[in-house]
Amino acid sequence: MILAGLTGNIGSGKTTVSRLFTMFGVPVYHADEKGKQFLGHDEVKEQVISLFGRGILGNGQEIDRKKLAAVVFGDKEKLSKLNEIIHPMVRADFRQWVDKQKGHPYAIQEVAILFESGLAGDFDKIVLVTAPESLRIGRVCKRDGVDEESVRQRIRHQWSEEDKIPLSDYVIQNNESSLLIDQAAVIHRQLLKDAGVT
Ligand code: ATP
Repeated sequence: MILAGLTGNIGSGKTTVSRLFTMFGVPVYHADEKGKQFLGHDEVKEQVISLFGRGILGNGQEIDRKKLAAVVFGDKEKLSKLNEIIHPMVRADFRQWVDKQKGHPYAIQEVAILFESGLAGDFDKIVLVTAPESLRIGRVCKRDGVDEESVRQRIRHQWSEEDKIPLSDYVIQNNESSLLIDQAAVIHRQLLKDAGVT
């Protein structure tokens, strides 16, 4: 089985595209979702509180992801420290998940900061979802009910699409003029070939 990384900048449409691959029967691991789940684990919560203080807790004494985001996305070092806690856990969890996907020609990990985290070497093939920045910002503001500046703050921690395109094997343009399903179907067939299925 080969492993494909599915990545793209905030609001590019990774999750939307990942649903198409799920529809094709491909197993998809959602790394960013998993990372959010780990924040709910007691031992992770304690580590995060010891780094950033109790100000990141909500009324129910759980980690408030909006408060945490406001702290880490304004400070590169704090973001790295949070990633140092979460990323190894996600990586180990992904390996266990992969072991359960035997029988599939390939599996996908959807992960936003694949290149930024130095994960490119973990994958046999990389699929990048791109979309114009204005469209990405508009989508995220609408989806999350946040303002443009908070989206821009996150974008500043990501590499540009121009830097990621030459490092990717396949690129999907989610610009509302090219049909997503057609592009995903072509790449699915290509990944099957890459995996040795003819
Ligand atoms: P994030 O990095 O924030 O997790 P993402 O790359 O996974 O984002 P999605 O959540 O798939 O992006 O898409 C962002 C929003 O834009 C969602 O609300 C989604 O429904 C919408 N969207 C994505 N692609 C399209 C499209 N082609 N047409 C209309 N809406 C779209």
